[in-house]
Amino acid sequence: MKIDRGIEGRGTLRPDMAKDIWIGNVQSGMHDGAQVELKGWVKRTRGSNRIRFIVLRDSTGTIQCVAKKEELGDENFEQAASALIEASLIVKGTVNVDERAPGGHELVVSSVEVVGAVREDAPFPITESAMSAADGGETEFLLDNRHLYLRTGRMTTMLQIRSSVFGAIHSYFRDLDFVEYQAPCFVAGAVEGGSTLFEVPYFGRKVYLTQSWQLYAEAAMPALERLYTVAPSFRAEKSRTRRHLTEFWHAEMEIAWAGNNDVMAHGEGVVRHICKTLLEEREEELLSIDRDLDLIARYADNPYPRIRYDEAVETLQAMNVDIEWGQDLDYSKEKVLTADFDVPHFLTHYPKMAKPFYHRVDPDDEKYVLCHDLLAPEGYGEIIGGGERTWSEKEILQRIDEEGTPREPYQFYIDTRTYGGVPHGGFGLGVDRVCSWLSGADHIREVIPFPRDSRRVTP
Ligand code: ATP
Ligand code: MG
Repeated sequence: MKIDRGIEGRGTLRPDMAKDIWIGNVQSGMHDGAQVELKGWVKRTRGSNRIRFIVLRDSTGTIQCVAKKEELGDENFEQAASALIEASLIVKGTVNVDERAPGGHELVVSSVEVVGAVREDAPFPITESAMSAADGGETEFLLDNRHLYLRTGRMTTMLQIRSSVFGAIHSYFRDLDFVEYQAPCFVAGAVEGGSTLFEVPYFGRKVYLTQSWQLYAEAAMPALERLYTVAPSFRAEKSRTRRHLTEFWHAEMEIAWAGNNDVMAHGEGVVRHICKTLLEEREEELLSIDRDLDLIARYADNPYPRIRYDEAVETLQAMNVDIEWGQDLDYSKEKVLTADFDVPHFLTHYPKMAKPFYHRVDPDDEKYVLCHDLLAPEGYGEIIGGGERTWSEKEILQRIDEEGTPREPYQFYIDTRTYGGVPHGGFGLGVDRVCSWLSGADHIREVIPFPRDSRRVTP
């Protein structure tokens, strides 16, 4: 794939600083035999007092640069030899096609300039042995050095995949004429229940960090009718799992004149669009982390079945899983259920007693609410939670009172119903969870640059 970053001619950078040769393009054969100037960082370096092999990396790839003393002269060769791992360099030379070189090309160096040196008494701490000990990026050492770990191949790949996932979410909703809309992060009330609320001192009062954009989106639903966001949500998750962060990226949508099935169609739509986009944009990156592209294609190309909660409970009971009707399905149950799924499945119609007041009661059977979770296969579990909202004033007051929730913090929410309520619904998708599932990561921390959990807010 040709990298075209269009920097030249835009006048946004000083011309003497513009970088216009990308290692990825050199490796794809665009500069064969040409004299080029490469800018990047040292990934590896080895050699003798006559010849140095420097593997240079930039954001698009790596290339081996061969620097010979007889070409560079004594002084410049000394510079080249002094460049340690992660030093930044400008390397000039000629691109040589060489079957034996990694990527099929190497640079025959004519000069090396060290731009940002790395000192001998402070070598780059992320060594190959630290990484292989980590086997996937889990040790405290790598988490402590996250700011440096970001430069390694696996993490770079994760960030590139993540960027495509975000892009796909925006394009899905914008192509369907949804309006991007923002809600505040400081809020007075809970969406997801009190146990995961983060309290913040606020000029002598207590407020909370938002758990979801939903309630504020519902207020704008009569204005915009179709709206979405991609924003952080905060939840004080005490138990540390492979699927929870305390600060995560939440893609949420709300749509007027829509029922549970309409909302599910968009949940399926956006997830399939993400899969399709990854296949178009990130095939190489996914292969580099051993992801099976056939799986992603299967998730892109097939419809997602819908099963009712009752049926899921029966399936679990038949497998001798300890579950009673009425309980929410936690991850241990989701994992058992999804182990045999070949594509994501929706679970619908949870018992009313398991869900908060804003879920609309099923008019056909009052024991249930019109909601859904989308469960990802391969044991990843819930990636979307959504449904139809309780939309009449009478019903919302009844549900709030039934739950024992105070009305006061939700008065603005109740007003949405008092003045021209209409059927509507929406969902929340955990973007980090989707990245984790589609990249096949072992832990949600692997797919976000600076993960936050109950123990860690640094670096
Ligand atoms: P779970 O039961 O798995 O903790 P939830 O039911 O509390 O999730 P929802 O309130 O339905 O989650 O939120 C919508 C989506 O946001 C979830 O389907 C999930 O993808 C994501 N999500 C929720 N909590 C977290 C978290 N702590 N870290 C990362 N993603 C989360
Ligand atoms: Mg949920």
